[in-house]
Amino acid sequence: GMPSLPPPIRLDLSDLDARLMQLVEQLAPSAEQRARQQQAWAAVQGLLQALWPQAGVHLFGSAANELDIGGSNDLDVCLELEGVDETKEARGEIISQLGEQLEQAGMLNVFAIPRARMPVVKFEHPETGYKVDITVNNRLAVVNTKLLRDYAAIDPRLRSLVLLVKHWAKRRRCNDAYVGTLSSYAYVLMCISHLQARSPPVLPVLQEMEPTHRRTIGNWCCDFCDDTSALAGFGRGNGESVAALLACFFYYWAHQHDFRRGVVTVRQSSAMTKAMKGWTTRVGLERHLFCIEDPFELSHDLGRTVHAEGCDKLRHEFRRAWDVLRHAGSSSQALQELLAE
Ligand code: ATP
Ligand code: MG
Repeated sequence: GMPSLPPPIRLDLSDLDARLMQLVEQLAPSAEQRARQQQAWAAVQGLLQALWPQAGVHLFGSAANELDIGGSNDLDVCLELEGVDETKEARGEIISQLGEQLEQAGMLNVFAIPRARMPVVKFEHPETGYKVDITVNNRLAVVNTKLLRDYAAIDPRLRSLVLLVKHWAKRRRCNDAYVGTLSSYAYVLMCISHLQARSPPVLPVLQEMEPTHRRTIGNWCCDFCDDTSALAGFGRGNGESVAALLACFFYYWAHQHDFRRGVVTVRQSSAMTKAMKGWTTRVGLERHLFCIEDPFELSHDLGRTVHAEGCDKLRHEFRRAWDVLRHAGSSSQALQELLAE
């Protein structure tokens, strides 16, 4: 388990906290950036609706759960089509077709990846400059976006922690699943599991509670309690500041997490191991060095893209972050070093 007290730190945590909260304010999208994002989403939605009148069009990812950093101009969009086979081949065909249509419609840098695990077409919307990723029938992503949003509604410290960790990960080049580190989604799950494990907890385990939101997607049960208004104030028993939680976060990943045997999970409060998941050996490209279980698609290890060098890099960066916080003489120095590019 995790210590309920923050590890020994010389810094004045209340001063660090004030600075971190200021930074969170700066990272969060401004009203103007939100309005621009809404405009871009409306335009892209209109375009897709015109091309595929029979389809549902959903926004997911950080623009939909408000765990985004201002000025990032990405939209994750899911096209929902009835009667399309859930195979990746069927999705891939739609993606190729969509790629051609988007090109004809004047979208820029259209790039279809029909053979990916989740086929995707990427493009840039010329009027707004937004980069858009479209996937087909990506229902799991729509529901996991809702899960993240619901967790964020229960305790505001989650959103602060997520924005700080995402910002740190981007600055320290630890936020790229394509080059062997971790996706933003993986970092959000790490933050949630961290807040669930504090003592007393900051967040509940929504998938262990009586479900109020029921969905089954393929063979995956996606039930959870989404009664966030009843759960507002859940974390009141834990008085830790964002600064303390961030310090503990880095301390945990630097020195407490069992990388050899452990699996990060947000769906249960008891510990999970690689042995329990059968994630003990490499299978093809799935290395299972740093294991993070998807909350719904239980066979999916979000850390599967982390290779040996990526894992070393991540662990080095967690230790570095903790050392910076531990040794810094002042909170301004701590922040500057922590976020150095
Ligand atoms: P950013 O603000 O950096 O764009 P994000 O929160 O949008 O981050 P992404 O990593 O871009 O996160 O992923 C967008 C969404 O796609 C996630 O919220 C999740 O629903 C889904 N997703 C991303 N990666 C995976 C994955 N490997 N497996 C399942 N779902 C994923
Ligand atoms: Mg995104």
